[in-house]
Amino acid sequence: MRYHSTNGRALEVDLAGALLAGQAPDRGLYLPTEIPRLDAGLLARARDLPYPDLAIEMLAPYAAGVFTRDELGEICHDAYDFAVPLEHVTGRAHVMRLDQGPTASFKDFAARFMGRALGKLVRDRGQRLLILTATSGDTGSAVAHAFLGVEGIEVLVLFPREEISDRQRRQMTTLGDNVATMAVDGKFDDCQAMVKRAFADPDLTDLHLSSANSINIGRLLPQSVYYVYAAARLADVAGGEQVVFAVPSGNFGDLMGGVLAMHGGLPVARFVVATNANDEVPRYLETGEYAKIEPSRVCISNAMNVGHPSNLARLVALYGGQMDETGQIADAPDLDAMRRDFHATSVDDDETRATIGRVHRDHGVVLEPHGAVGWCGLERFLAAEPDHADLVAISLETAHPAKFPEAVREITGHDPDLPPSLEGLDQRDELYGALEVDYAAFKDHLQGEYR
Ligand SMILES: *Cc1c(COP(=O)(O)O)cnc(C)c1O
Repeated sequence: MRYHSTNGRALEVDLAGALLAGQAPDRGLYLPTEIPRLDAGLLARARDLPYPDLAIEMLAPYAAGVFTRDELGEICHDAYDFAVPLEHVTGRAHVMRLDQGPTASFKDFAARFMGRALGKLVRDRGQRLLILTATSGDTGSAVAHAFLGVEGIEVLVLFPREEISDRQRRQMTTLGDNVATMAVDGKFDDCQAMVKRAFADPDLTDLHLSSANSINIGRLLPQSVYYVYAAARLADVAGGEQVVFAVPSGNFGDLMGGVLAMHGGLPVARFVVATNANDEVPRYLETGEYAKIEPSRVCISNAMNVGHPSNLARLVALYGGQMDETGQIADAPDLDAMRRDFHATSVDDDETRATIGRVHRDHGVVLEPHGAVGWCGLERFLAAEPDHADLVAISLETAHPAKFPEAVREITGHDPDLPPSLEGLDQRDELYGALEVDYAAFKDHLQGEYR
């Protein structure tokens, strides 16, 4: 399998090349040159396949020429050792809980695959890597856990001191070993800017910097598996029965996983694309005019506070258009086709809170702010298109309610149960450095610690 850049000015690479590079040299994003078909045989078997086995079957064509089936088997069985519950809510509508991994967010699915895959590549080549990541909350902890103890790889996470929750911070700062963390006295954008500058700094090439954010194709491919897993268990997808997915979206990496599955043959009637008040994509689909939101709007679904989604260029490319890394559209995609596939809608904080309360009261189901944005989007879609109401609908719950205990307690009156992965976290010792928003100081630190 080969991967090409959305900007069209870089050589094609295999999966190893795409994983190690992250971004293509022409600043575009890698996409597979063809999307593997999910044939009816696989869709029929998917109903009974355990999660890791389905992951092996679906990822094998993407990894062709880089990982053997046995190697993929080792990676997937090790990465996917937790449950993927499908919780019935009402009618044929379900919530898929992607929050049972070690950091209680769906980012564990991709990060755990990537940590193991990159670890193997680095070992086989006798290389080393320094993974630099800026986080607004969930990415840093998923990446830190996924790379913890991986030989040949060091991790440094920068986070904005005042912008993440205590539990989100503790998930990164209590690990130690090859994982270092620094609190930055600034905003997420400041962290991101320092990391980007380091990647582009010729003085730092000998540190072998790499990124693990969602521009890396390794952060997308594993996310197509759970769409097939859920649909096959709840509907006769091998017989062509269509399902609806609701996806709470920020950088659109999660959605891209579903879109790859649909373009590979999974029968999806519609993706409900639900954003918070950062509504640049719903507006784009409505008007055909794209405008970033700068700075991004602060909402309680903080992992979705994104004013220019990094994966939008990939979505545009899959629909025949071209968008560069700054958001300029050189070729318009087929907007009519996008409108047939996506129902995009923006949910503000008041409605997010109201949804958490309503779903808890009416159905006894506890959602957190991100999942509530998705569920609210699904309700709106079914109200707008009632002929879809008898389809199986699956709304993605992307984080565990216990990661947002204050919001959930305030609205439902109950403390969310703590999953085993978060137990004891509040008592563990933390260790992290401090950094001003000062690139020269950051660079000194990198050269002093990692050279
Ligand atoms: C990252 C994140 C999202 C957004 O996912 P994207 O792939 O960026 O669209 C939604 N919910 C939670 C809890 C997240 O951590």
